[in-house]
Amino acid sequence: MDSERYRELPAVHRLLAHPMVAEWLQREARSDVLGALQVAIDRVRQQLGQDEVQVDISEQAILDIAREVLATRTKMHLQRVINATGTVLHTNLGRAPLAPEALAALIEVAKGYSNLEFDQMTGERGHRYDHVEPLLCELTGAEAALVVNNNAAAVWLVLHELAKDKRVAVSRGELVEIGGSFRVSEVMRASGATLVEVGTTNKTHEADYERVLDDGVDLVMRVHTSNFRIVGFTYQPSLAALVALAHARSVPVIEDLGSGSLLDLRMKGLGDEPSVRASIQAGVDVVTFSGDKLLGATQAGIICGKREWIDRLKRNQLLRALRVDKLTLAALEATLRLYRDEANAWLKIPTLRLLTADAGQLHTVAEQLAREVTLCIGGHARCRVLETVSKVGGGALPTEDIATYALALYPISSTAVRLLTALREQSPSIVARIAKDEVILDVRTVFEWDFEELVQGIRNAADATASEDVGGQEQK
Ligand SMILES: *Cc1c(COP(=O)(O)O)cnc(C)c1O
Repeated sequence: MDSERYRELPAVHRLLAHPMVAEWLQREARSDVLGALQVAIDRVRQQLGQDEVQVDISEQAILDIAREVLATRTKMHLQRVINATGTVLHTNLGRAPLAPEALAALIEVAKGYSNLEFDQMTGERGHRYDHVEPLLCELTGAEAALVVNNNAAAVWLVLHELAKDKRVAVSRGELVEIGGSFRVSEVMRASGATLVEVGTTNKTHEADYERVLDDGVDLVMRVHTSNFRIVGFTYQPSLAALVALAHARSVPVIEDLGSGSLLDLRMKGLGDEPSVRASIQAGVDVVTFSGDKLLGATQAGIICGKREWIDRLKRNQLLRALRVDKLTLAALEATLRLYRDEANAWLKIPTLRLLTADAGQLHTVAEQLAREVTLCIGGHARCRVLETVSKVGGGALPTEDIATYALALYPISSTAVRLLTALREQSPSIVARIAKDEVILDVRTVFEWDFEELVQGIRNAADATASEDVGGQEQK
């Protein structure tokens, strides 16, 4: 019986004559339209093959499928979204937004050729790492620096070069998992190092380190416990004390700082995230940190420290597998340049600007947006301004709550979950969160250029969820 129905399936050329398809052809490439029609027909044919009784093989049903296929086919998969979560360094939403200076540098270098590995003075081969090394040294006080793909790669490279087949001491309080199953203990195993655990989860004393140092470890590693805090009955030696203990026995100290700030965040009341300069000053031999966390640039792993060690890393055969490309270097160099003038950095680097945005100003923005939203969501939802807190994100300053303002939407004839979903389905997608039975949109991470689409998106989402309820089957 189904073989007959196969024959009833409309052919592509017949569908091409449909007025709806003619309209698509005016907007989209013929190859995309043909492709979408073929996918739709194939999908229905497959359903028939699965012996399902109720397969709609009408032209309209196939065109409905084709419309959706065409929409995904002609849209970029990697897209901009509106971040209304308030989390400034949201790893799933791409972490740090770039400064205009970084974008300009990136376009300039990417659209044509560059001196990536070319020395204009001598006409000979240059080194890609030379573009940012002097800047990194200037900003951190380090003797030398190197940049790789991300901080995970930086940690791996440092361990692989300096600790392979050797013994590395790490405090039990620092054996962290960062996320995406990146665990200090696993990275150590993968790099060929042997982990020597020191002290306890909450307290590790100088004497604990001395004991393992005297037993003959080859390296001491300090890991910044980025994404959690142990509070209460705790102890760990200062960095300077740890360095003194290790250096007295000619053992180098490496540190994974995680976020690694180039400025003192305490100046702006932003908790106690260690700065790279402080680690270098304390005498740490090699420090690693991320390019796209508090630094506010692109994904990169930055390695700073004593020349002796950095030179060895530069000669590691596997450096090539971790190397950064010209886009990363362009954006990173432009961002680092902004740090030369501290006041400039706070203003121009989006991560720093968003983190320090004034609550009063955020309140004004939230009030303004709430007025606009109230005007256009009519009877579907109520909108109020809510005082709440934003998070830094990116595993930085996990206990820090930053006062902020948000729009709180209470759907009248739908649910918060449905409204949240509908917001996500907008273009651009709007990412928010739920608290109790309201959808919360934190204005801290919403840019000025997002405002119009945010209001429009809220309106469309409220309309969509309200109209789902027609018929009354949907319950709250
Ligand atoms: C975030 C983090 C990493 C990983 O950095 P990526 O740049 O995301 O690869 C490693 N160690 C610590 C302590 C971190 O906080």
